[in-house]
Amino acid sequence: MVQRTLLQAFHWYYPGGGHLWPFLEEKAASLAEMGITDVWLPPVYKGAMGSQSVGYDVYDLFDLGEFDQKGGTATKYGDRASLERAVHALEAKGIGVIYDVVFNHKMGADEAERVRVHRVNPDDREEIDPATFEATVLTRFTFPGRQGRYSEFIWDAKCFSGVDRIEDPVEDGVFKLVNEHGDGWNVEVDEEFGNFDYLMGSDVEFRNKAVYEELKHWGRWLMGELPCAGFRLDAVKHIPAWFFRDWIESMRESAGKDLFVVAEYWHADLEALRAYLDLVDRQLMLFDVALHYNFHNASKGGSDYDLRTLFDNTLVGSMPEHAVTLVDNHDTQPLQSLEAPVEPWFKPLAYALILLREQGVPCVFHPDLYGATYTDKGSDGEDHEIEMPAIACLPLLTKARQRFAHGPQTDMFDKPDCVAFVRHGTAEAPGCVVVMTNSTETAKTIDLGQEAGGVAFRDFLGHRDDEVTTDDAGCASFPVNDRSVSVWVRCDALG
Ligand code: CA
Repeated sequence: MVQRTLLQAFHWYYPGGGHLWPFLEEKAASLAEMGITDVWLPPVYKGAMGSQSVGYDVYDLFDLGEFDQKGGTATKYGDRASLERAVHALEAKGIGVIYDVVFNHKMGADEAERVRVHRVNPDDREEIDPATFEATVLTRFTFPGRQGRYSEFIWDAKCFSGVDRIEDPVEDGVFKLVNEHGDGWNVEVDEEFGNFDYLMGSDVEFRNKAVYEELKHWGRWLMGELPCAGFRLDAVKHIPAWFFRDWIESMRESAGKDLFVVAEYWHADLEALRAYLDLVDRQLMLFDVALHYNFHNASKGGSDYDLRTLFDNTLVGSMPEHAVTLVDNHDTQPLQSLEAPVEPWFKPLAYALILLREQGVPCVFHPDLYGATYTDKGSDGEDHEIEMPAIACLPLLTKARQRFAHGPQTDMFDKPDCVAFVRHGTAEAPGCVVVMTNSTETAKTIDLGQEAGGVAFRDFLGHRDDEVTTDDAGCASFPVNDRSVSVWVRCDALG
């Protein structure tokens, strides 16, 4: 049985110049061999900064690097032809393609419009100044380079609920556009700042029926153009929950198959995540933000961190069927907005915890597989050169997931500095014994039961080169190196 394993195929600083699509085309075979089943692509469409855009400043959802807009034809990752080659190469290797859906806002409007706006208190968005005044806003998107191909929809001020900049008078802040869709913001959004509908750019007005239909049209269009296994939904805490509840249902109906859907609701509080899942009829999965922070803290805390608490207050700990587990992503990597990286020494432990356990769908982060080097300004205003090393044992861990992460699970989270778990295997597939420590070399005595008596084990990761053999009762002491993890598997299963 193949177990779903995601790769986030990019990071914030992935080099531009059209390298990513050819890279993925080239890597399709090795990713499949490694046990990756689905690849989450960065936004595949044109951003306001053209070939400089990571993709979250979406300009034209229908321009997959095909039209001369925003300074060129290709996106940062390549042109449409190279995107098609990449996704078809992935599909040919049985890998599903997951598309990033950025619906909350648009940027890079083609034309300005004269509208009426309210000033809004940025710290309490429910505090909308009742007075309105005329201002010029950048809200008209005509896509002159595309000329109506695939969609003739023109976005204008009626399609947006707010902006953060007006001209004539020039002012920065948060402004609610006067429209026919309601006096206030969209509801069923996160409650930070009173109402967190507004995030950035021109904020999409989901209550406008024409907008709603256009976004459905886009989803169906994309699925018709390219192979699609599912979606990653961006910034859902700023989008009314009812919208995605309907949109996902509609996409699944159009696809005629189950689509994998994971949403980014960046909140460590379980109750907020639970409330959101209820609002969307539990049709999707969420990234386990709390688990990521636990990994971050564990990596910072070293041997002072109590490993028994790693799953405390996590999504995977309480609603595993809705948890996509991760170690780092493009927002948490060094110098990014939610910077809270997991230190390299702890990553093998963290990946063993997301890849080899029964609960959660794991998501591997591109730099952890391939490494990354980049320079950017830090919060101190100085340039910093960052090196994210590839995690050497990660390809073995993803393989181990497919080969050995089978059967019932027994936890031995009994010591603060050394925890272990056993996957007992099934009639068809072998299991494994996973031992890890954040302190010095140690061992865990584990009783695997009489049927595992007299069996020899080796560390699949090769961190240990000794062999462990259970006694007649199926008991053995499984060692682990300093600040390390070992994945002990039966020698007769190594083949
Ligand atoms: Ca919004």
